[in-house]
Amino acid sequence: MPVTKMTGRVEGKFWSATVLTLFPEMFPGPLGQSLAGKALKNGIWRLETVDIRDFARDKHRSVDDAPFGGGPGMVMRPDILAAAVDHVRSGQASEGSAPGGEKKVIYLSPRGRRLDQAMARELAEQNGVILLCGRFEGVDQRALDGRGIEEVSVGDFVLSGGETAALVLLDAVVRLLPGVIGDRAALEEESFAHGLLEYSQYTRPQVWEGQEVPDVLTSGHHENIRAWRKAQAEELTKERRPDLWERYLRSAKSRG
Ligand code: SAH
Repeated sequence: MPVTKMTGRVEGKFWSATVLTLFPEMFPGPLGQSLAGKALKNGIWRLETVDIRDFARDKHRSVDDAPFGGGPGMVMRPDILAAAVDHVRSGQASEGSAPGGEKKVIYLSPRGRRLDQAMARELAEQNGVILLCGRFEGVDQRALDGRGIEEVSVGDFVLSGGETAALVLLDAVVRLLPGVIGDRAALEEESFAHGLLEYSQYTRPQVWEGQEVPDVLTSGHHENIRAWRKAQAEELTKERRPDLWERYLRSAKSRG
């Protein structure tokens, strides 16, 4: 019998993540701490893990097999993955469908659309997400096609499994949920919020190892501070991320 482990409170409205994995003990992991952990305890979001191995049917509980066509490694079987996804979907259907309809199923994969702040914002506006974590060489393509599963990547590098990628995606989404970060202004200011990287930050001491905090920041002149920060954010973005800078200029132009 498949076991669903749940962390968090189940009351009222909440954002919910269901993670299909061979390593359920990796969750909530770092998301059990700090902001995300507090939000989990407070019932702002809910995290369920489903052990894919519970859907294996042979006595060795195997979930993978050698790739057709040869090559190294093993591939996760479509029948087992589909059974796990169907189980989650039918459970959620019986919960009564929450507003926003059926949750998206995302397979964490280096071939996927790159996760960015816009995608995180979109997901935060849904009522939750179902995440499939791969292992070995990945999953049988037919499971993705047969169940309408989208692929999302956390960057152009290869991880050993989808679990750390799922933690990254969830961290990015959960901090955007209402009530997780007390000061919403912090979200307005940060990197990518307006298509720019964030300006540099300073705190006490005002002089440290001979380095002084920029004068404008201690001037108390709010308009100058705002202008300085904007110029800094632009400078930094131009220098470090020409791709973002181009996009920023284009969208500034289209805004007129
Ligand atoms: N053979 C695959 C890599 C498999 S890595 C390929 O070349 O594309 C094993 C698992 O780690 C994958 O199934 C996927 O779930 C996860 N993974 C690896 N890199 C990732 C990335 N950049 N983003 C999201 N998930 C990733």
